[in-house]
Amino acid sequence: MDFDVSEETATMLGMARAFLDAEVIPLEGEMLHGSPTALEEGVARAQDKVRQMGLWAANHPVELGGLGLSMVDHGLFSEVLGRSPLGHVVFGVQAPDAGNVEILHAHATEEQRERYLRPLVEGKVRSCFSMTEPEMPGSNPVMMGTTAVKDGDDYIINGQKWFTSSADGADFAIVMAVTNPDAPPHRRASMIIVPTDTPGFDLVRNIRVMGEAGHGHASHAEILYHSCRVPHANRLGSEGYGFVSAQERLGPGRIHHCMRWLGIAGRAFDMMCERANERVITPEGDTLADRQVIQHWVAELDSEIRGARLQTLHAAWMIDRYGASIARDEISAIKFSVARTMLDAIDKAIQVHGALGVTDDTVLAHWYRHERAARIYDGADEVHKTTLGRRVLRRYASRGAT
Ligand SMILES: Cc1cc2nc3c(=O)[nH]c(=O)nc-3n(C[C@H](O)[C@H](O)[C@H](O)COP(=O)(O)OP(=O)(O)OC[C@H]3O[C@@H](n4cnc5c(N)ncnc54)[C@H](O)[C@@H]3O)c2cc1C
Repeated sequence: MDFDVSEETATMLGMARAFLDAEVIPLEGEMLHGSPTALEEGVARAQDKVRQMGLWAANHPVELGGLGLSMVDHGLFSEVLGRSPLGHVVFGVQAPDAGNVEILHAHATEEQRERYLRPLVEGKVRSCFSMTEPEMPGSNPVMMGTTAVKDGDDYIINGQKWFTSSADGADFAIVMAVTNPDAPPHRRASMIIVPTDTPGFDLVRNIRVMGEAGHGHASHAEILYHSCRVPHANRLGSEGYGFVSAQERLGPGRIHHCMRWLGIAGRAFDMMCERANERVITPEGDTLADRQVIQHWVAELDSEIRGARLQTLHAAWMIDRYGASIARDEISAIKFSVARTMLDAIDKAIQVHGALGVTDDTVLAHWYRHERAARIYDGADEVHKTTLGRRVLRRYASRGAT
């Protein structure tokens, strides 16, 4: 297997990394303790420059103005952008919009492409994905209370959702709702586009997460769908195929997440090593880096991050070569193991920074708050472990005793 990248990809990654260091990381101060308006203006200016560099929405297909990257290239790009919490937004490839672009690209009608997909790719509007419900287990979303009942040419949607990320300020939601209650569990729900100005779309609150309610793109909303009426023409894909369509985006989506997490782990590791070398802890001039415990942490993390990176690139290479369904074991494995590596890197970096690590003077505490969720969304650790463990054991059972 070969993870070598083409000359064009290497150039693109180099440009993205240089831009991130020069123009994006300096904006983090505004994000951590500055004014939201100054941050928005700074992000908008940086986005314009990304457009001028020809790197806007680069990981989308060529027909949408992207660069048509392979899964490996896409992952490497996501790793570079992941080094800053603002990286993906500045380059126009942030979740949940990037995933929604994939769904719309695969399933939208001509009219839906014009009205929703094109402005989304151009960054003129934002979107959200509304599936999880407070009263139902998100880990088994076939249990769903939200319904979309036909009434003439319309669906009438009723239900309560939460953790609809980035709903605040979004132009439309892709809502998962039960349209076929009598069908088998995986054929009951459909995806329906709901413009957020539709009467009955009620954003109740931005949920406080780890002490922060957030706003705009950086928020997670509770939403009530109250006799929310939209035309049948807003359904995405065939009726009852919502879970099938959602499943298609999960493989590539997990590469995107895991490589973003490796970007975070990489920067936390850099910060940890720099701090260990600089921080003098004795009058004789010993630094933290002189202590064996720190050297062991550095060695262990270095090895963990290298392993997680190779594992993720291998999963991406498998998707490129054989498709996401053949690569499902690899995809399940990276989801929980890379999340653990990233959280370990953030935690150790905070420890090495001491009290400074828990302040908002560095980006580490922000990540500590916001990235804990990596072990919950897109399939909780335990669900992936159960799925992978079961499949591995089945292979042994079918082989029989050796
Ligand atoms: C920051 C954040 C952003 C999110 N963004 C979105 C979004 O944009 N749109 C959206 O629709 N949803 C979103 N979610 C919701 C997310 O998809 C769900 O939280 C997730 O699917 C888990 O569902 P749940 O919270 O209902 O937990 P539950 O299903 O109640 O599970 C609780 C816990 O039980 C354990 N568990 C569950 N099933 C099993 C099992 N089979 N075996 C063993 N243990 C198990 C796991 O530890 C799990 O964490 C987001 C969540 C977070 C935290």
